[in-house]
Amino acid sequence: MHDAIRNIRPVAKLVRGMPASDGDGVKLTRIIGGPALDGLDPFLLLDEIRSDEGADYIGGFPEHPHRGFETVTYVLAGRMRHGDNKGNSGLLTPGSVQWMTAGHGILHSEMPEQEGGLMWGFQLWVNLPAANKMMPPRYQDIEPSRVPEVTLAGGVKVRVLAGTLGDTKGAVEDIVTEPTLLDITLPAGGEIVLPVPPTHNAFAYVFEGNVAIGEQGARVVRGQIAVLGAGDAVNLAGGPGRVLFAAGKRLNEPVARYGPFVMNTPDEIRQAIADYQSGRF
Ligand code: MN
Repeated sequence: MHDAIRNIRPVAKLVRGMPASDGDGVKLTRIIGGPALDGLDPFLLLDEIRSDEGADYIGGFPEHPHRGFETVTYVLAGRMRHGDNKGNSGLLTPGSVQWMTAGHGILHSEMPEQEGGLMWGFQLWVNLPAANKMMPPRYQDIEPSRVPEVTLAGGVKVRVLAGTLGDTKGAVEDIVTEPTLLDITLPAGGEIVLPVPPTHNAFAYVFEGNVAIGEQGARVVRGQIAVLGAGDAVNLAGGPGRVLFAAGKRLNEPVARYGPFVMNTPDEIRQAIADYQSGRF
């Protein structure tokens, strides 16, 4: 039910992802981080990989560095192997989520563990505030069975990847930007109202079917991202459809970005490149 005091966020902007290529020739759709939607503080990038042609993804993402932010990988289909220069390694399977805090620096690879068949998933980049950019690197690797799944009235299903939904605590914990990350399945006629603090930016990316978003019920179809405007709640209705919903605290800090390094100033970027080139990651 609608809470009378809730101020439902409108759809402020509707954007379609653009075809892009990254890693060793991996074909993907760039949803955040392209010209149409440069970023949505604290979110720096959102990519969707979705192909059943091995040639589109077989090159994977061979060893590369990161500093100053966090990368979140959510797998819907397929298997992705990750490994890093600290000796960590793991296999991401359908339904699993990995929240990697690059902090002061990590060198890692993300490689498909299949030569064909459907590979489908997301990578989201979440910025870190200046005070945390040089924190020690860490992972939260969550296997599918550890992601809480809630079924609400009307058959709405929610996988709580991060943040909370009612009394349900998400799988990923203690992230600086206090993010919410939900995989929401809306049946026809389903509806959900999510409280989102006014301190947070939020988006809803529709990756199956279509969903009505906001008080006016703007139709958002597969492949479109709705950037949500001001308010303290988000309303998703209609369907059938499936949505990746994210909210995160605005940092309101300068962003200096160069490839896999995201800092606050050009000097810090130069330092990151120097540290990487001299093997200090
Ligand atoms: Mn990476």
